[in-house]
Amino acid sequence: MSSVPEILHTVFGFDHFRGVQEDVVDRVLAGRHTLAVMPTGAGKSLCYQLPAIAREGAALVISPLIALMHDQIRSADAIGLRAASLTSADADREQTVQRFKSGELDLLYIAPERATGEAFRRLISRTNLSLIAIDEAHCVSEWGHDFRPDYRLLKPLLDDNPDVPRLALTATADQRTRADILAQLGIPEEGLILAGFDRPNIRYHVRPRDGLNAQLKTLLAGQPGSGIVYAPSRDKSERIAEQLAGSGRPAVTYHAGLEAPIRARNQAAFVESEEMVIAATVAFGMGIDKPDVRFVAHAGIPKSIEAYYQETGRAGRDGEPAEAWLFWGAEDFARARSRIEQEVEPVRRPAERERLNALAAFVETPGCRRAVLLRHFGEDPPETCGNCDNCLDPPKTIDATEVARKLLSAAFRTEM
Ligand code: ADP
Ligand code: MG
Repeated sequence: MSSVPEILHTVFGFDHFRGVQEDVVDRVLAGRHTLAVMPTGAGKSLCYQLPAIAREGAALVISPLIALMHDQIRSADAIGLRAASLTSADADREQTVQRFKSGELDLLYIAPERATGEAFRRLISRTNLSLIAIDEAHCVSEWGHDFRPDYRLLKPLLDDNPDVPRLALTATADQRTRADILAQLGIPEEGLILAGFDRPNIRYHVRPRDGLNAQLKTLLAGQPGSGIVYAPSRDKSERIAEQLAGSGRPAVTYHAGLEAPIRARNQAAFVESEEMVIAATVAFGMGIDKPDVRFVAHAGIPKSIEAYYQETGRAGRDGEPAEAWLFWGAEDFARARSRIEQEVEPVRRPAERERLNALAAFVETPGCRRAVLLRHFGEDPPETCGNCDNCLDPPKTIDATEVARKLLSAAFRTEM
């Protein structure tokens, strides 16, 4: 068996681990249960792929979406890993089960509802597992921003395999969500590895919406490179794409209402281009590996501060300077509040309100945006970052009071 640095180099083509990857891999290789909270783009896949090669047996990877699984399998294939999935979209399931049984797979991707079925648990009990990775692990928690009840069913499968190291991975989990993941998945507290959330190359800007089309046009005129504009609806995403295309910038649309081949074509065009803008709903983004996205603009507020972090996190994965623009209106918050009160299950309302309030705090702060964002994720950042709108150009609140006082005293003097 080759050493870890050798695998890192020959299989993945990297000379160094990045950030906490090494800590995570070391723990998994030592057979210990782990929760890794690492920002988008930090390299979570390697944290289970590398141990999957280094340890005996096949790795089971729990993932919530077929599209995510297939993306992962494509990139695993590309580096020579033996990976397959068991989903309704896979015609060769029987063959995959055979490969899995006979030890011919490094990685088996599966959705939680299938992984927890009786038949699958019996299969597992006869198979040698290297590890169980639980991707997008925030889905297990009601406090998380994307709760999926099927994740709750994983516990018996994990209980069947107490000695197989489990690795839960997520990009976004506040303190309460983290505690919940640990409890739900039976991971000890000392198993938590928390990577920094800061994305120092992203510059945050927040502006009240005021003639969005003109605002976007101005923004894009001074903004080379490719980018994403998140729109609050399918309709808006189409209108934005038309507008941009009309002003000469290559632009495509992406939302769940488009036919699959059109979505695939638009996504591929965006990924390959160095100047294209994709106007999209939140259906766009997960599992897309485009390191040179230069900006992410929001035409309205995102669902939560977690969603905002995740969506803007798609900019600048190559580490080069990138911009995040948020255009908001008071009506966005009003609408979001009434959605929570009318459409969200009562037990989940307090958490959702809290998350929306955190987003409001981010939007309204006269101070450092990054500090608000990082504090939300439990970090203790410096007061100023030097790379957000408020740090670069402090709002004139103090000056405004000063002006008001001068005006008042001027008025007072004339009365005298
Ligand atoms: P995440 O799932 O955390 O969002 P990915 O696993 O998709 O991130 O990795 C993001 C990118 O980082 C990928 O292009 C991957 O190849 C790259 N990457 C991962 N680990 C390293 C490393 N140690 N050195 C350089 N690049 C890396
Ligand atoms: Mg990932």
